[in-house]
Amino acid sequence: MGWDRFLGQQASRWVACGIDLVYPPRCPICQCEPQHQAQGGDADRSVARTARSASWAAPVCGSCARELSADAERCLRCGEVGGPADGCRFCRQRPHGWRQIAVLSSYAGSSGLREAVLRAKRPAGDAVAAALASLIVSKHGDTFGAWGIGRVVPVPMHWWRRSFRGTSAAAELSKQIARLLGLPSTRALVRHRATRMQNELPIHDRTRNVEGAFRARRRLEGERILLVDDVVTTGATLSACCRALLAAGAATVDVAVVARADRNSADA
Ligand SMILES: [Zn+2]
Ligand SMILES: [Zn+2]
Repeated sequence: MGWDRFLGQQASRWVACGIDLVYPPRCPICQCEPQHQAQGGDADRSVARTARSASWAAPVCGSCARELSADAERCLRCGEVGGPADGCRFCRQRPHGWRQIAVLSSYAGSSGLREAVLRAKRPAGDAVAAALASLIVSKHGDTFGAWGIGRVVPVPMHWWRRSFRGTSAAAELSKQIARLLGLPSTRALVRHRATRMQNELPIHDRTRNVEGAFRARRRLEGERILLVDDVVTTGATLSACCRALLAAGAATVDVAVVARADRNSADA
C-alpha cells in the first residue's frame, strides 16, 4: 500500500473517531444517547456489542432491544404462537416448504416494531434495517449456527417497485445478517413478474398472486440457504421463494423475518 493511501486511511479513521466524540452514536431506533444505554444489565451490553460489529451500525439501546425482541414461544415450523416447536395444528397438515422459521417478534406485541419495520422500508432506513438485523442475530444466532446456513438470500422486490421506493428492506436485512454471521448475502432470486401487494388481497388470493413469480438467477446445488424478509403473514411469498430455491438445487431453506403480522393486518 502506498504511503498516501495509508495516510488517507488513517486520516479518515481519525476523522471518524472525532465525529464519534462530537456526535456520539445514537440508538437508531429511539435516538437516545449512549449514556442512557449503559444502565441495562449484561444482556443489554451483549446486544449492544452485537449491533456494534455491524461496522457503521450504531448500537441499539437496552430498552429498544428488550421491547423489539420480546416475544412468545413460537412453533419453529410456521411461526404461530404457542405451538410445539416441531409443528403445530396450523402447519402440520400444510407444510410451507421451508424447514424452520426464526421470528424477532410480532406486531401484536409491540407498536414500536411496526414503526421500525416501516422505517426500514424507507430510502433512508438502512440504519434501522441494520439495527433490526443485529437484534435478529442477537436472538437467533445460535439457531442459525445449528441450521448450518451457508448463504443468506433476501426475498426480492420487483425492479419496477424498487425504482419507486429506492430500497428493499429485505435486501438490507439480508446484507447485515450475513455480515454478522460472516456469510455471503446473495440476491439469488428475481421477481420476474410484478405482483399485487399481498396486503391488498384477501388471504385466500395471496398464494395465487405470488405463485411462479420468483426464479433463481443461478444453480444453488446443495446449498443451505437462510431466506430473509421483513414481515410474514400467510407465508405465501416465502413459500413461493422456497420453491424457487429448492428448484435451483438448494439442499435446505430456513427463514428469518423481523415481524410476524396478524393475518388480517399486513404484508405477504
Ligand atoms: Zn433505543
Ligand atoms: Zn406451526
